[in-house]
Amino acid sequence: MAHIIEVHKLCKDYVMGDQVVHALRALDLTIDEGEFVAIMGPSGSGKSTFMNLLGCLDRPSSGEYLLNGEAVARMGDNELADVRNRYLGFIFQNFNLLPRTSAIKNVELPLMYANAKNRIERSKAALQKVGLGQRMDHKPSELSGGQQQRVAIARAIVNDPVLLLADEPTGNLDSHTSEEIMALFQDLNQQGKTVVIVTHEEDIALHCKRIIRFRDGRVQVDEKVQNQVNAREMLDKMPDPDAVAGAVPPVAR
Ligand code: ADP
Repeated sequence: MAHIIEVHKLCKDYVMGDQVVHALRALDLTIDEGEFVAIMGPSGSGKSTFMNLLGCLDRPSSGEYLLNGEAVARMGDNELADVRNRYLGFIFQNFNLLPRTSAIKNVELPLMYANAKNRIERSKAALQKVGLGQRMDHKPSELSGGQQQRVAIARAIVNDPVLLLADEPTGNLDSHTSEEIMALFQDLNQQGKTVVIVTHEEDIALHCKRIIRFRDGRVQVDEKVQNQVNAREMLDKMPDPDAVAGAVPPVAR
């Protein structure tokens, strides 16, 4: 299995006046192609700092980071932006969609930045993949929270990235909608996407295949999930608050 992420002695210090906060302390870990990882840990343990580094949004103070085999730790801003475009898809707790812009235009954005071809076709295909083929022209305000998050997932996958990074992707959703979103992530993971999410919720983390628990800037526990929760089985057992039968179709192949 290829390493998608490889970090060696990764450190991040924040200097606050005459104080130094060691947010990450010599982290060593690898994440392989096809993994589905939950990052957990108490507030202040270094999760956001780690995700910002993984997402090439910030640089480490020291140490190495190889993303898909490329050493990114000392790249300049333009190179980092390029790596982000080529390799990464981001999903956020509050969806981060452009509010006055249709679903399809939101999904098209990364393709515009990348100056890619066949933008409309690819955006449509991504929206169909997340079950929103019928709502492409809706604006975010005309969509439910779960639908908005699905638009955000379509936007994250439209570039066919090697890695999806999701920061509390179900943090603003009710439990039924959270299961739907986790079902989508499980489908994408089964189709080969590597997925890393940050979550505070144990039951959400149990939908992943591996849980890495941070504490004080270090990995405290790194464990395989023994009985991965299957989101579709959970949905079958849960009453749907909106009574929309079969709300989320399987991800189209
Ligand atoms: P978590 O996401 O687990 O809550 P963070 O990565 O946000 O943890 O924070 C880890 C530590 O680094 C905390 O002590 C936090 O106060 C500190 N920290 C995070 N970002 C900054 C920053 N921009 N400037 C100074 N200190 C920071």
